[in-house]
Amino acid sequence: MYSKKTLRNRNVSFENTHARNARNTAMNTVAHIDANYYYGQIEALFRPEVRGKAFVVGGDQESRKGIVLTKSPLAKKFGIKTGVSIRDALNVYPKLIVIPANYPLYLYFSQRMREIVLQHTDTIKPFGSDEMWAQLYGDRETVRKTVTAIRHDIWKQLCLTVSVGIGNNLPYAKLGSDLAPNNGVCELWNDEQEEKVYPLPVSDLLYVGQATTEKFNRYGIRTIGDLARTDPKQVCRIVKNKTGESLWEMAVGQDRTTVASIESIDDIKSIGNSNTMPRDLEDDNDIRAAFYMLAESISERMRSNGFEATVIKISLKDNDLYGFTRQTKLTRPTNLTAELVPAAMALFKRHYRWSKPIRALGICGADLIPEDSVFQASLFTDEKKRQKTVSLERSVDRVRGRYGHFALQRAVLMHERLKSVNANNDIGDAPTFYSY
Ligand SMILES: [Mg+2]
Repeated sequence: MYSKKTLRNRNVSFENTHARNARNTAMNTVAHIDANYYYGQIEALFRPEVRGKAFVVGGDQESRKGIVLTKSPLAKKFGIKTGVSIRDALNVYPKLIVIPANYPLYLYFSQRMREIVLQHTDTIKPFGSDEMWAQLYGDRETVRKTVTAIRHDIWKQLCLTVSVGIGNNLPYAKLGSDLAPNNGVCELWNDEQEEKVYPLPVSDLLYVGQATTEKFNRYGIRTIGDLARTDPKQVCRIVKNKTGESLWEMAVGQDRTTVASIESIDDIKSIGNSNTMPRDLEDDNDIRAAFYMLAESISERMRSNGFEATVIKISLKDNDLYGFTRQTKLTRPTNLTAELVPAAMALFKRHYRWSKPIRALGICGADLIPEDSVFQASLFTDEKKRQKTVSLERSVDRVRGRYGHFALQRAVLMHERLKSVNANNDIGDAPTFYSY
C-alpha cells in the first residue's frame, strides 16, 4: 500500500516527467546571424573616404601581394571575388582600393557582436569571426521580435548590418542567412521545407563541399529535396561513411545539433590545456601522444569559438618538479591539431634534453586572431591538402559533438594508455586554463 504522501509524490513526479517530455519534443528555434562583408563594413566605419567605392580588404596595394579577404559591394559588381590574389584583382579593376587587414580590430568587433546577442539570449554558438547561431525562445512572433531587437542593437551599437536566418535547426538557419539579403531576414521553418528548402541546390547545405556535391550529382541528387527523398542508407553508401546519415538529417530538417552554451568569450587571449599525466612520459613518442591528446581539446575549442592561434606555448615539469615554459610564433595561424602538434614537438625538442621523465605537460594557443582572417597561401603549404585537414578536423568536432569525445580517437592514442583520458574533462591537478 502506498501512503497518501507517496502517491502525491508519484503524481508530481509523473507530471514533471510529462512536462519535461513535452518541452523536449517542442520545436527548437534558432537564428543564424552573419555580418555582411564583415571586414569591409568595419573598415568603412573608420575610412569615410572609401564608402561607396570599390575596395577590398587584404594584402598590400604597393607590393600587390596577398589575397582578397572581403570585397565591397561595388568591387563585387566589378567582378572581384574573395580569395583571388590582389594582383589579379588589380588587373580586373586598376583603381581598386586595397586596405590591409586589421585583425585586432575585427576581433574586437566580433566579441562586441557576441556580447550584444548574449543580451537577448543565454546561448550562442560562434562560427568563424562574424557568424553565430543563437538559441531563441517563444512562439514565432516573439522570435521575430527578438531578431529585430538583435539587429537593431548591432546596428545601433556597432553600425554593422547582419543577415539573419531563422529555422527549427542549425543548418536551416544557416541556409536562411545565406538566402537573406544584406541587412535582411529569411525564415525557413520545417513546415515550409517543401516549398522553400527542398528546391535549393544540395551544395547550399552546410558541410556539403564540392567533392560531396559531385558525388551526389553522380547519383542524380541535385537539390536538398533530392537528398531528403533518398534512403539514408543509400546516402551513407554514396558518401562512404557515417556522415551520410547526418547529412540526410540536415536535409530533412531533423538535425539535432544544439546551440551549445559557450564558454565566456570576453577577451580570450589564449586557449590552453595542461595535465599531470597518468604515468611519466619517457620518450619523444610519449610526448607526441600527450601533445595530441591535449591539442585536440584546445583546437576544438578554438574552432568552436572561431579563433586561430598565432603563437604556441608549451609547458612541462619533470618528475623532480623542475619545469619551464617556452613559446614560439607559428609559421601560420592555425587551429588544427595536425599543425599545432608538430610545432609543439619542435619547440620541445629544441628546449629539452632528456634527463628525467616528464610528469606534467601543457600546450597553449596564444595571441588568438579571428579564424579565416589569414589564409595567405604559404609557398610551403599545399593549400588543397590543408583544406582537407580543416574539413576532417571539423567533421571530428561534429561527430564528437553528437556522440561524445570517445566516438573518435586518433590512432596515435590507441597505442597509449593515455587514450582513456578525455582532455576536455578537468582531470589532474592542472586543469584546462584560460587566460584573460
Ligand atoms: Mg559574413
